[in-house]
Amino acid sequence: MIKDIDIVLTPEESAVEQLLVKASAKKAGVKQSSVTAVKYLRKSIDARRMDIKINAKVRVYVNEKPESLCPHVEFHDVSAAPSAIVVGAGPAGLFASLTLIERGLRPILIERGKDVHERKRDTALLSTRGLLDPESNYAFGEGGAGAYSDGKLYTRSVKRGNVRKVLELLVQHGADESILYETHPHVGTDKLPIVIENIRNTIIASGGEVHFKSRVIDLIVENGETKGVVLADGREFKGPVILATGHSAKDVYQFLDRHGFVLEAKDTAVGVRLEHPQMVIDQLQYHNPKGRGLYLPPASYSFVTQVENRGVYSFCMCPGGSVIPAATEMGRQAVNGMSSSSRGGKKANSGMVVQIRQEDIKYKDKLGMLRWVEEMEEMAYFEGFKAPAQRMADFVNDKVSSTFPDTTYKPGLVSMRMDDALPKIVADSLREGFKAFDRMSRGGFLTNEALMLASETRTSSPVRIVRDEMMKQGPGLYPAGEGAGYAGGIVSAAVDGTEAAIRLSGEVYGK
Ligand SMILES: Cc1cc2nc3c(=O)[nH]c(=O)nc-3n(C[C@H](O)[C@H](O)[C@H](O)COP(=O)(O)OP(=O)(O)OC[C@H]3O[C@@H](n4cnc5c(N)ncnc54)[C@H](O)[C@@H]3O)c2cc1C
Repeated sequence: MIKDIDIVLTPEESAVEQLLVKASAKKAGVKQSSVTAVKYLRKSIDARRMDIKINAKVRVYVNEKPESLCPHVEFHDVSAAPSAIVVGAGPAGLFASLTLIERGLRPILIERGKDVHERKRDTALLSTRGLLDPESNYAFGEGGAGAYSDGKLYTRSVKRGNVRKVLELLVQHGADESILYETHPHVGTDKLPIVIENIRNTIIASGGEVHFKSRVIDLIVENGETKGVVLADGREFKGPVILATGHSAKDVYQFLDRHGFVLEAKDTAVGVRLEHPQMVIDQLQYHNPKGRGLYLPPASYSFVTQVENRGVYSFCMCPGGSVIPAATEMGRQAVNGMSSSSRGGKKANSGMVVQIRQEDIKYKDKLGMLRWVEEMEEMAYFEGFKAPAQRMADFVNDKVSSTFPDTTYKPGLVSMRMDDALPKIVADSLREGFKAFDRMSRGGFLTNEALMLASETRTSSPVRIVRDEMMKQGPGLYPAGEGAGYAGGIVSAAVDGTEAAIRLSGEVYGK
């Protein structure tokens, strides 16, 4: 017999298998000795009160063998099938490739950076010695911008496609089953590379091609139709093209513009990374001066407020994580955050960003927002990607920080007033936003134990490749993912890549 039940657990019951079985058997009204397994179907933490509870739906197996909750997709041999080109091996490109195979097409995946393991050496050089390889870094290389991240898999874009299938395919390729039932699932930077490598192996084993260190510099466009791509080394690949190049590939916008594809400037959000001791966040979120205790995970937060009709919010929070240099060009600074699957580090970081609209900036052309963001990155650049930094309370009280708390950011810090490192509109809005977040957390969030690092600029693409115009402009090109301006985050990019592959299969090959 199998019984699905809703249950409220203590943190200890939710974490200790024996206690989970006991509580579930009692709730299901069956003998504990007859329960062969209990599997979570849904799990979330209710931390609104001191007495923290875990709300869950579980499947209780009574004298039954437990089954896997994740269906297995068979990827068949497509080596003799018609091809489609996928540019960019980030989440959008990887899931576009898997979808093409499912639809009986052969993906040729082209990636400017290195494979996910080789790439790790370059990100380490950037972090420890401030040395940047513009083709292999935290944004470029197999796995894309999501490879060395926190691997948060939460998305609000549930109506845009099959989110569940993306999660299931990640589990099929090595991610933990918990991503199927946690309310805010994450994989962690230590586990993501294995999952990414397994997806690559599926593509190759099915007859697809994967090319690293292969930068696309142009499209082959004949009579308005996209027929293929040209690489920096002169090679050409022919076929319809899914362009999934992410928001840091600015050169791509240049060649699209040259061919006359319709681009438009897009609103974005920029700010800083804010790093607290994880203990402070645990104390605040779990209402306990002792912190999270033995059975609760490192706490996260999500804040949003309006400052003079402008959104100010936390973004991409990484509990137990580190702040990393996410720049892709010399002379331009960008920080971001990542964490491991255990989220076991002593610091919590998150982007703290301010909404920027077209009317806020002086540039009015289609690449204007991109230029404005680049200038912001230039303001915050110091040799070796040292980050402008200021303690949080010092910033609010307009005081230069003479010392810093420990930080996970390895390239080093430069003491600076954030008002000098950020555009005025960003600094002013953040100051008011921080006061509001402190009120929301009933004090303790706005502290000099927290450090601000500039600048957080790669939250979303500042350019959109207008897709409604695509078919009118000529067939054969399918912009997808974050770089196209229609996704933000790992899952939404994967869903968008999937949808692009479905459109291509239908429109070009009738599949
Ligand atoms: C440090 C960090 C942490 C993050 N953490 C999270 C998180 O926890 N959760 C979350 O949801 N999101 C996170 N994000 C955002 C997320 O990674 C992106 O939204 C997502 O990766 C976008 O996917 P994409 O496939 O559209 O583009 P990308 O991931 O940017 O991939 C684009 C790929 O295209 C390649 N490329 C670019 N130009 C060319 C060219 N001309 N020729 C060939 N190849 C090219 C690039 O090298 C890259 O590999 C994080 C981002 C960063 C940088």
